[in-house]
Parts: sequence; structure tokens; C-alpha cells
Amino acid sequence: MRKALIEFRNVSFRYEENSPWVLKNLSFTIYENEFVAIIGHNGSGKSTIAKLVNGLLFPQQGEILINGITVNEETIWAIRREIGMVFQNPDNQFVGATVQDDVAFGMENRGIPREEMIKRIEETLQAVRMSDYRLTEPHRLSGGQKQRIAIASVLAISPKVLILDEATAMLDPKGRKEIMDTVSELSEQRGLSLITITHDLAEVVQAERVIVMNQGEIWAEATPREIFSKRKELREIGLDVPFVAILAEELKQVDVKLTKEPLN
Ligand code: ADP
Repeated sequence: MRKALIEFRNVSFRYEENSPWVLKNLSFTIYENEFVAIIGHNGSGKSTIAKLVNGLLFPQQGEILINGITVNEETIWAIRREIGMVFQNPDNQFVGATVQDDVAFGMENRGIPREEMIKRIEETLQAVRMSDYRLTEPHRLSGGQKQRIAIASVLAISPKVLILDEATAMLDPKGRKEIMDTVSELSEQRGLSLITITHDLAEVVQAERVIVMNQGEIWAEATPREIFSKRKELREIGLDVPFVAILAEELKQVDVKLTKEPLN
């Protein structure tokens, strides 16, 4: 059986006392090695979930466990070492003058020895196919390349879970696919859990499981295929099924027969 990595147990959260609950009695589990997509329209509570996992916020009700440990003010520093987060705007994530300085930064903060740092810079840049850019200034890179570096920086600290919070939102469809292909490959190779938080249904195709959020509650939890088959209901909660998925579904309905007989 897979080990639970992130557990939300009846979590409710609101930003201020007397303001409406943003997350309502939310319970779900994400397992080790799993690729889960959390999807929902804007304002459905996705980013709040990411901030709770990372201990930037704490729930007023319920409990969150990471690797079996309850998230609170005392445990959060140790827990953050297990979690790598990549956000929407890569420009806000750069601190180094060169790509390699940037990848080194998180490791320096954790006191990783220099030799080990050099090894990990090499490995992670190779993993995201950016080895040739080691000495480039980050601001000279394209949006997709910047996100690759942000991912390399996070991988360098060897997290157990990688969370992408709308991390491909600023990229074109090709760039998005490249990033999603890279991270899903990496998570398989390294045994990482992967959580992608998005409002774009095209991004959930590779996930094993999809959690659909609506108004602070789980609207559905299913495989991408099951989710895509509910396109009418999804539209009602502000999500559009990508055209290609619709086409694939329609084609399944058509009885295509292959024949070896000559067409005359
Ligand atoms: P999503 O990521 O799905 O777009 P969020 O988690 O950002 O949703 O937001 C959920 C709800 O919480 C929205 O109604 C939003 O307006 C509200 N919210 C988000 N951040 C804050 C904040 N800092 N203060 C008050 N309300 C907030």
C-alpha cells in the first residue's frame, strides 16, 4: 500500500474572522509517488490549499499532516524541507546572478556542503535540460526556460513532493506541455509526488488522479478520463474541457471499421 504523504482532515479555512469560509471541511489524501492535479475555477480555493501545505497559512479547523506530522508553527520548518513549490511568475523566484547561483541558493540556506552542491547543480540542470545555461543570467531566459530553472532549484533540495501552483500559466501550449512532460518524467525517476494546481484542464491529462474544487469544496475526485466525460457539468462550474479531449471522446462513439477489401 502507498504511504500517505499529504493528508487534509476536515480542514476549514477563512482569511478573517466572520468572513466566509474559503475551504469547507476539506478531506483528501495524496500518496507517495502519486501525480495529482488540483483543478478549479479562479477563487475555488486552490492556492489557499498550496499555502496551507507550505505553512504560509494555518487552518482554523481540522488538521493537515505531511509525512505523518501535523503542520503547525513548530513543525513547519522541518516540513518545508520536504516540499518544493514552483509558482506562476518565474521572475519573482530568481535570486542569483547566474542560473547556477540561483540553483545553489536554496542549498546554501540548508547548509549543504559545496561538493554536494556542485554535484546537484549539474544533476538538476541536466534533468531539466538546461546544462548549457549554467552561467546565463536568469533574466535572459525565455518563460519556459525560467520555469525549468525554478524547477531545478527546487529539485536541488531533494523534496519529497513538488507542487506546481499555476506554474505553466504564463507559457504557451507548447511550453506548458514541455514543462509537464519534464516534471512527470522527473517525478517518476525520483519517486517524487507531484501536485499540479491549475485552472487549465489540458494540464491534468497526465495526472493519475484529479481533485476538482468548487467553492472551497471537493466537487469530484476521479481519473482524468472520468473527469473529461463530464464536460457539461464541468462547464457549469466554470471549467472548459479541451477540444482534443472532446474529439477523442466523440471518436470513440464512431464505429470505425477497417477493411482489407479494395475500395471500388
Ligand atoms: P484559487 O487559487 O482557486 O483561484 P484562492 O485560494 O486564491 O483560489 O482563493 C479562494 C478565495 O479566497 C477567493 O474567494 C479569494 O478571493 C479569497 N482570498 C484569497 N486570498 C485572500 C486574502 N489574502 N485575503 C482575503 N481573501 C482571500
